[in-house]
Amino acid sequence: MLAPMAASARAMPACLVTYPLLMSTIIASDERRILDSVPHQLLIGGEWREGENGTLPVEDPATGEILCEVADASPADAVAALDAATAAGPAWAATAPRERGEILRRAFETIIERTDELALLMTLEMGKPLAESRSEIIYAAEFLRWFSEEAVRIEGRYSVSPNGIGRLMTMRQPVGPCLLITPWNFPLAMGTRKAGPALAAGCTVVIKPAQQTPLSTLAFAEILQEAGLPDGVMNVITSSNAGATTEPLLSDQRLRKLSFTGSTGVGRLLMSQASQTLLRLSMELGGNAPFLVFEDADLDAAVEGAVLAKMRNGGEACTAANRFHVHESVAVDFSERLARRIGAMKVGRGTEPGVELGPLVDAKQRDKVAELVADALDRGAKPLTGGARVDGPGYFFQPTVLGEVPAGTQLLTEEIFGPVAPVSTFSTEEEALTAANATEYGLAAYMFTTNVKRAIRVAEALETGMIGLNQGIVSNPAAPFGGIKQSGFGREGGPEGIAEYLETKYVAINLD
Ligand code: NAP
Repeated sequence: MLAPMAASARAMPACLVTYPLLMSTIIASDERRILDSVPHQLLIGGEWREGENGTLPVEDPATGEILCEVADASPADAVAALDAATAAGPAWAATAPRERGEILRRAFETIIERTDELALLMTLEMGKPLAESRSEIIYAAEFLRWFSEEAVRIEGRYSVSPNGIGRLMTMRQPVGPCLLITPWNFPLAMGTRKAGPALAAGCTVVIKPAQQTPLSTLAFAEILQEAGLPDGVMNVITSSNAGATTEPLLSDQRLRKLSFTGSTGVGRLLMSQASQTLLRLSMELGGNAPFLVFEDADLDAAVEGAVLAKMRNGGEACTAANRFHVHESVAVDFSERLARRIGAMKVGRGTEPGVELGPLVDAKQRDKVAELVADALDRGAKPLTGGARVDGPGYFFQPTVLGEVPAGTQLLTEEIFGPVAPVSTFSTEEEALTAANATEYGLAAYMFTTNVKRAIRVAEALETGMIGLNQGIVSNPAAPFGGIKQSGFGREGGPEGIAEYLETKYVAINLD
């Protein structure tokens, strides 16, 4: 059994025990071979082909060097991908659910078999340490296993009308061709979390990965081909101009659904574009997760949970703890212990042994984190560890803990997306809740307490879609992942995940 998943291997030794092959080491000389082995073109209608706009570079964020080039799609390429998805739609919808599930299951098994290679590919394009990439590969594959099982559980309903005469029958059918847009921070899992349920439901898809990290999606598409996915069911477009490339699809009435994971700003823009065709939407957007530590918390567990919630994926996670609100009676102890743990993390290229924190994804992201930290320090925050960028090639930032961060500081109101933990204090539960909810976002929250009544009370009052209670991770393929407020709407994973790709049709039956 694989659970628990999606954490760093450091925090999840069970993964290593279950899959001994993960222990094997891939040496640096394999990097070129792995990069070359992945298709670099667009996948349209089962054919790998060049992009009309030439190519775009993929960079190694640890060095700033170009790893390879991939196809750069034009708007016409995107329309060709939708043509292919539309043409393949009816046959895929009519394919036996068991067969759809078996294809996903084979893809799951192949991904697990190739964990090491896929992890290296991910580390090269995204930067996270190999151990974390391996955990993401397993987490990503689990969505395919979960939805391979859900494919055969798409149910309808039959009931007697309240008047006793008629009968009501409902059936659930695939929504049709979907556009899936994914971000760079989880290059494989964000794709499988969307494509898994879409394909299981009988939908065909066009997927557009982030331009920083196209390689994991290209590898995933090839694995689905190997698993027997018919031509045109999944199409991949990579592009240096996401807006221009996807815009014609959003105004095309053949497209029936957009599932987007990314920033709230881009989500809003896409929603306004999608309003023209009343496109069905799922929006997995930004977060600003509070991490609450009450005076009755198990402090050892809270520190470990904080390290995981903050430093998983280098802080580049929508669910990352963005701000730590700690009861004044334990704040000094908690902050010092957190600073010791985080400050001791080894920073470096994700391929190096023992590295626990890789680079940020690009210069823009690193500069944004540096600005937020500088602003907090200017306003009087106290550096407990780190606080600066790392000189040299690549986009590294020191693992950082800041104490006494004043309310209203940008660091507390904006999504940091980096390895920075701001700590502030509270004195009452009410104050903690007010601070936790004082954000436009509502994705995840974490709470550490040993008081059951408080746990329920606070869980009910937190304005978020997900809550980690005495644990620093919420992601799980069997659970509904998603947010409220400006973090979007829709759920991925769990039984809810496949519902996003199904329409309910009702038949009124006259028995009079
Ligand atoms: P982003 O800039 O919004 O980009 C996300 C995706 O949207 C990329 O594929 C991007 O393509 C594409 N895109 C950008 N502008 C577009 C446009 N005008 N039209 C169509 N597509 C467009 O976000 P990011 O910086 O990559 O990712 C970080 C954000 O994702 C954070 O806010 C994080 O919280 C959020 N996120 C949310 C979840 C969740 O489940 N709630 C999970 C992970 C990440 P290009 O790469 O070509 O720009």
